[in-house]
Amino acid sequence: MPVSQAQRVLPFFNYSHFFQSQEEELVSIFKDVGRRGAFILQSDVRQFESSLAAYTGARYAIGVANGTDALIIALRAAGIGPGDEVIFSSHTYVATAASIFFAGATPVAADCMADHMLDPDSVREKITQKTRAIMPTQLNGRTCNMDALRAIADEHNLLIIEDAAQGLGSRFKGKMAGTFGIAGTISFYPAKTLGCLGDGGAILTNDDQMYAKMCLLRDHGRNEKGDIVAWGLNSRLDNLQAAFLDAQMRRFPKVVLRRREMASQYQALLGENARLTLPPAPEENTDHYDAYQNYEIEADNRDALREYLKANGIGTLIQWGGKAVHQIPQLNVKASLPVTDRIFDRCLMVPFNMSMTDDDIHYVCDHIQAFYRA
Ligand SMILES: *Cc1c(COP(=O)(O)O)cnc(C)c1O
Repeated sequence: MPVSQAQRVLPFFNYSHFFQSQEEELVSIFKDVGRRGAFILQSDVRQFESSLAAYTGARYAIGVANGTDALIIALRAAGIGPGDEVIFSSHTYVATAASIFFAGATPVAADCMADHMLDPDSVREKITQKTRAIMPTQLNGRTCNMDALRAIADEHNLLIIEDAAQGLGSRFKGKMAGTFGIAGTISFYPAKTLGCLGDGGAILTNDDQMYAKMCLLRDHGRNEKGDIVAWGLNSRLDNLQAAFLDAQMRRFPKVVLRRREMASQYQALLGENARLTLPPAPEENTDHYDAYQNYEIEADNRDALREYLKANGIGTLIQWGGKAVHQIPQLNVKASLPVTDRIFDRCLMVPFNMSMTDDDIHYVCDHIQAFYRA
């Protein structure tokens, strides 16, 4: 396709697309929930929790207010607090480290590998007498090598709590992100692969005791009878959002397939370009089944590429505002992480969402190729 084709406007993410593409159904859900007056912890939350548990294969799913609360609640329920250290990948959202901080523990940053996922060797180097848990981020819709992390956790008697905010639908050796440790968390922020119309989150667990504690923590410490039996927070998934999400859940397997197809298209159109490093292709390593929450490339001359794409109507994003957690001086999470540093000089997310057509992907790739030819 010639690059001279008519200019398009391709925002990095189209926030109104989800609503507009399903407006009628969403409005009817809103009316139904509203007419029932079913706003807080009603049947729609339970229904969505059971859909999510069935999809992931987790014994339990608990809807909470957002993905960050999910992490804090999981850490607190696991008994992690002051004096404890938790190892996380610095290539993650600040929320991962913040949840460790707000649980009262110390976040310890580790490096990632060429595929941007937490490096088990780096985790090993960070272990001290105080380490209690590993918190891998299932980044960009990919699940870490959980065999390697499990081996380290077992050897050192550590818990695994997954930040699977971006991981829903991805698998390692057939097992779903969020189901490997004592708990795993999901975010339903609108731009996530399963997004709602506001904030939302969930925690997955197979552990009966964790489940019971986390149910109390999300709802003021109230048990099923409404008696207060522990300290708790208010971090409930809105019943209305749960109703929207349950409708989305039915389409979700198709969403994952479409995202894998889009990744294959990017791979076919950009794979030969030596100035770029692409994410692993869908069929590259059969241990991994990726859901492609994001398509995060590494690019030579990244900032100029970004400007060039912007001038052609193509929105891009450098993840986390351009800084890994250990690179944010005010947070004082110091570490020497050469691979993460190198990635943050080059990483860029290209438009990758359900509002895009195959033609749009060609448009983006044509312009990337034109930039390097010039
Ligand atoms: C989105 C995200 C979160 C936070 O989720 P919220 O629902 O916005 O609180 C945490 N970790 C990662 C890796 C994320 O991408």
